[in-house]
Amino acid sequence: MRIIVHKHKCQGHARCSAQAPDIFKLDDEGYILPGDIEVAEGKHLLASRGTRSCPERALELDATPAARAESDVIQPRGRRV
Ligand code: SF4
Repeated sequence: MRIIVHKHKCQGHARCSAQAPDIFKLDDEGYILPGDIEVAEGKHLLASRGTRSCPERALELDATPAARAESDVIQPRGRRV
């Protein structure tokens, strides 16, 4: 799973980091660090919650076919996050 970071939209609310500080790293001023985030297996639920918590829509779950296929492999019950 990958999260696409739209850094220019970030307003520093830190809601994402409150959900999952190990996934959503912020700079010293509370803004998300630049660059897409590769989420480790087992952290998908937290990553999804953090992504949905962003009021600025600065975070986006990668919904490309390759990312979905990867998610299917990691989520053997067929659940997609
Ligand atoms: S919740 Fe959204 S706006 Fe707030 S720090 Fe995270 S990415 Fe930025």
